Amino acid sequence: MEKQMEEMRQQLDKQLQINQELQRHNTDLEKRLQEKEKLLQELHSHYHDLEFPSRSGNEIHPVVRKSRAAVMASEPIPENLEIIQTKFKKTSSETSLIVKAIQKNDFLSRLDDEQTAMMVDLLVASDYKPGNDVIKEGSEGDSMYIVAAGELIVTQGGRQLRTLNVGDVFGELAILYNCKRTATVKAKTVVRLWCMERQTYRTIMTNKSKKKREQIMGFLKTSRTLKDLNDIQLSKLIDSMEEVKFQNKDVIVREGEEGNTFYIILKGEVLVTKNVNGQQKQIRRMGKGEHFGEQALIREVLRTATCTADGPVTCFSIDKEVFEDTIPVEHLELFDDSKVLQEVVAPEKPCPGSTMVLKDLLPVLYQEGRYQGEPVTLGVGGFGRVELVTSAQHGKYYALKRVSKKHIVAKRQEEHVLFEKMILKASQCDFIVRLHAAFKDTRYIYMIMEFCGGGEIWTKLKEVRRFEEPVAMFCTACVVEAYAYLHKKRIMYRDLKPENLMLDGKGYVKLVDFGFAKELVRGEKTYSFVGTPEYIAPEIIQNHGHDFAVDFWSLGVLVYELLVGSPPFSSSEPQKIYAKILDGVLKYPPYMSEAAKSIISKLCRPRPGQRLGNTKNGIKDVRHHRWFSSMNWSKLRVGQVDAPTMRLIRKGPCYINFDRFPHEQPKAEEEFSGWDRDF
Ligand code: ATP
Ligand code: MG
Repeated sequence: MEKQMEEMRQQLDKQLQINQELQRHNTDLEKRLQEKEKLLQELHSHYHDLEFPSRSGNEIHPVVRKSRAAVMASEPIPENLEIIQTKFKKTSSETSLIVKAIQKNDFLSRLDDEQTAMMVDLLVASDYKPGNDVIKEGSEGDSMYIVAAGELIVTQGGRQLRTLNVGDVFGELAILYNCKRTATVKAKTVVRLWCMERQTYRTIMTNKSKKKREQIMGFLKTSRTLKDLNDIQLSKLIDSMEEVKFQNKDVIVREGEEGNTFYIILKGEVLVTKNVNGQQKQIRRMGKGEHFGEQALIREVLRTATCTADGPVTCFSIDKEVFEDTIPVEHLELFDDSKVLQEVVAPEKPCPGSTMVLKDLLPVLYQEGRYQGEPVTLGVGGFGRVELVTSAQHGKYYALKRVSKKHIVAKRQEEHVLFEKMILKASQCDFIVRLHAAFKDTRYIYMIMEFCGGGEIWTKLKEVRRFEEPVAMFCTACVVEAYAYLHKKRIMYRDLKPENLMLDGKGYVKLVDFGFAKELVRGEKTYSFVGTPEYIAPEIIQNHGHDFAVDFWSLGVLVYELLVGSPPFSSSEPQKIYAKILDGVLKYPPYMSEAAKSIISKLCRPRPGQRLGNTKNGIKDVRHHRWFSSMNWSKLRVGQVDAPTMRLIRKGPCYINFDRFPHEQPKAEEEFSGWDRDF
C-alpha cells in the first residue's frame, strides 16, 4: 500500500514537472507569438513606408496608426461662466518673448491672432526654486507653461530627456483637456514661468467664440438682403463664412469688376471711392460691422464702387457659390429621405430587455488558447470593458458593456454615460447597435447590447492593411445611413473611427459607443472638447463651437483611413495632430481614385458650412456623390445589398473575429454619489 502511494506520489510529481514544463513552454510560445506580431507590424509599416515614399521631403504618411486611438473628453465647462481674471501686466519685452514662444510651438502657432493675443493677456507668472517639480510624470495636467527665465530638466522614467530654456513651451496639451503628463519637469535653476490653466483658457476661448458669433449675427441682421433669414439660417451662413485679412491700401473690391463676394468688416476701416469723371472720389468710410457687396450674392452685378483697406482690415466673407450652397436654408434639412427611412425602420418592438435580468446572463468562456476557461472580453475602450454573455433561457448572445462608476465620476463623464444610454435606448436603426437593457449596481453601470459577431472594422483594417474601394464605400454608406437617422433626431455622434464600427453577422456596419453623442437644437453650437485626436474637426480644436458638421469631417477622415490604412492627420504626439488638422493639408496616395479624393476633400473642408453633408441639400449631397454611384441606397436600408465585408469575417467560435483579452481581476471600487439615479 505504502509503496503504491509512493509510486503515485512520484507520478504526481512527475506530472507536475511536465505541467510546469508545458506552462513554461506555453509562455515561451506566447512571448514568441507576441514578438512575431510586433515584427509583422513593423514590417507592415516598413512596407507602407516603401510604398508611400516621401515626396520632395514632404512625407505623405509620417505615422501609420498602429494602436487604437485614445479618446479625449474635456470636463464640461459651466454655461456662461465668465472668468474675472485680472490681466497680468507684461512689459513689451515679455510680450515679445511670449509671442515668439507661441509662434515657434507646433500647436499654439496655429491659433488665430485673437486667440494668441488673449493667451498673452492671460498668462500669469509663477516662480520655482532649483529642485522644484513643475509637472510630474503620470499626474493629471491642468496648465501649460512658457519659460520666462531659468533652466529646467525634463525626465521620463528617471531618464533625462532634455533641458528647457527661456522661450520653450511645455504641457500645452493640458489646456485642451485633462491628460496625463508624459514626463517630469524640474527646475534646475531659479525659474520663472508664464502659466495658463485649462479652465481659464477654455472658458475665455468659448465665451469669446460665442460673443463673436452673436456679434456677427447682429451685423448680418443689418443687411437688407439677408433680413428675411431666421437665426438658424444666419448661423448656417456664419459657418460658411471665412476670415480674410487685407493690408493697408489693398483693393478689396474694384468698381466695374464682376462681384462674387460679400464682406463684413470685423476690424479696421475701408474707404469707398467712385470714379467721377476719371477721378477717384471718396464717398464714405466704413468700419466694424458694416458690410458691402451683398448684391453680388443674389444677382450678377458689377461692382458700383471701389473699396480699399485703410490700414490693416479683417473681414468675414462669403462667395456667391458658397452662399448658394448654404441658402435657401428651407432646403437645408440636414436629414432628407425621411419618408423612405421611416418605412424602413422596423416597427417598435417591445424591448426584450424589459424582461431581461442581469443574473440570467452567463459569461461565455474561451474554449481554447491562452485564456481558455476565462470569460470572453470582446473589447476594452477608454471607459468600459465589453464581455460576451449568453442568456440562460434562449442561448442568444449579447455584448455586455460594464463601466466603473468610480472611473466615470473621476473623469467627469457622468453626463456622457447618461446620454449614451438614453440615445441607444431611443434608437431603432439597423445601422446602430441595439440596447436591450441597462442595469447598475454599486460599482458598475451595465448595458446589454446586441452582439455584433463580425468584429471591429479596426481589427479587419489592421488585418488587411487597407480596404479596397468597394469595401470602404460599403462601410461608409452604412455610416451615412446611421448619421441620417441620428441627425434627423438632432443627435451628433462625435466619435467616428474604425474602433467604433462593428460588423454584424451579415457584414453590415453598425455604430457602437455613444459615449460622446449629444442632442443639439438646430442652429445652436456646443463647446466641449470631445473626440479622438485624429478625427477631431478644426472647429473643436479652436473652441469655435461645433455642431452636426463635425460628423461629416470625421466621415472624411474615416474614408481616408479605410482606404489608406492610416488617418490623414497623424503623429505620435496629439499636439502635432492638431497642428496638422488646423493646417488642413490632405495628401493622397497615388492609388486612390479621383472620386475618393473628391469626397474626402469635400468632407474635410475646414469651414463647417462648406462641408459636404452640411450644405443646403444636407446628407443627400453625400449620398449623391459620385464615389457612391454604384450604391443602391434603398436596398442598403432594407439589408438587400450583398456586403463585400463578408469576406473579412472569419468562421469559427463566436469570438473568432475579436482580439483576445485577459480577464480583468480586481473589482472596481464602490461609488455612491448618486449621479446614476436615472440610469
Ligand atoms: P471608447 O474608449 O471608444 O470610448 P468605450 O470604453 O466606451 O470605448 P466601447 O467602444 O463601447 O467602449 O466598446 C469597446 C469595444 O468593445 C469596442 O471597440 C468593440 O470591440 C467591443 N464592442 C462594443 N460593443 C460591442 C457589441 N455590441 N458587440 C460586439 N463587440 C462590441
Ligand atoms: Mg469605443
